[in-house]
Amino acid sequence: MKTGLIAMAALLLSVAAEAKTPWQEVTHPIAGTAQSIGSFANGCIIGAQPLALQSSDYQVMRVDQRRYFGHPELVAFIYRLSSQIRRATGAELLIGDMGMPAGGRFSSGHVSHQSGLDVDIWLQLPRRRWSQQQLLQPQPVDLVMAGDRQVNPHLWRPEIDYLIKTAAQDRDVTRIFVNPAIKKQLCREAGEDRAWLHKVRPWFAHRAHMHVRLRCPADSLECQEQDSPPAGDGCGAELSSWFQPRQPSTKTPVKTLPPPLPPSCQALVDRHFSVE
Ligand SMILES: [Zn+2]
Repeated sequence: MKTGLIAMAALLLSVAAEAKTPWQEVTHPIAGTAQSIGSFANGCIIGAQPLALQSSDYQVMRVDQRRYFGHPELVAFIYRLSSQIRRATGAELLIGDMGMPAGGRFSSGHVSHQSGLDVDIWLQLPRRRWSQQQLLQPQPVDLVMAGDRQVNPHLWRPEIDYLIKTAAQDRDVTRIFVNPAIKKQLCREAGEDRAWLHKVRPWFAHRAHMHVRLRCPADSLECQEQDSPPAGDGCGAELSSWFQPRQPSTKTPVKTLPPPLPPSCQALVDRHFSVE
């Protein structure tokens, strides 16, 4: 099971790394009522909204990449979360990638973030403004110790726990991906109130940021929802399985073409921009 997951992740990454996509060339959102189409890992968006780049509650990193577009509900979520965190802790959120103006597949980097419902938020909570240079070339702080078994106690702070918990309790959030060592720390600190842990999913990497995913907006009829995470807080056997020794994969990764686009995304490509 685990080996399969690793092989699948490697495969998805290699596909993402090599496939050139027309979506990179889109400079502005497609006009229309906001619609997230398809799945998080194979989709697009009509009517995306840019995140305001100036705010006293958050700072946006790597704006030169123009990955600060999303469904209006994602933008609203970022405003809501950042103002909550700012009021409670005095710290500002660091916003990483959302999606491209029309969503779609990146030429490199992410597999998901395609339908305007995903955002990466760093698990650093600065109390001062970063310089333009710092924001363009941000340095992530690795919260996980070498060996991948626990967070670094010198870097971990209660505010990080509070940030992830606050995001997980948001009505629109369906999943949050963090490193297994970070999930373990959250499980340890949670106490009686554990329902929110259900949404926090252990995943590869994610050592310096959390990846937040929203549910499909009710009026996005072509948006494909993922199955709910398994019942429970996910702090038991499932989490432990991430810390078992891994079997090296004996299978050679097979190169496959990306899956066909959802018809409405293909129609956008045909209408608005050409494919090589
Ligand atoms: Zn992400």
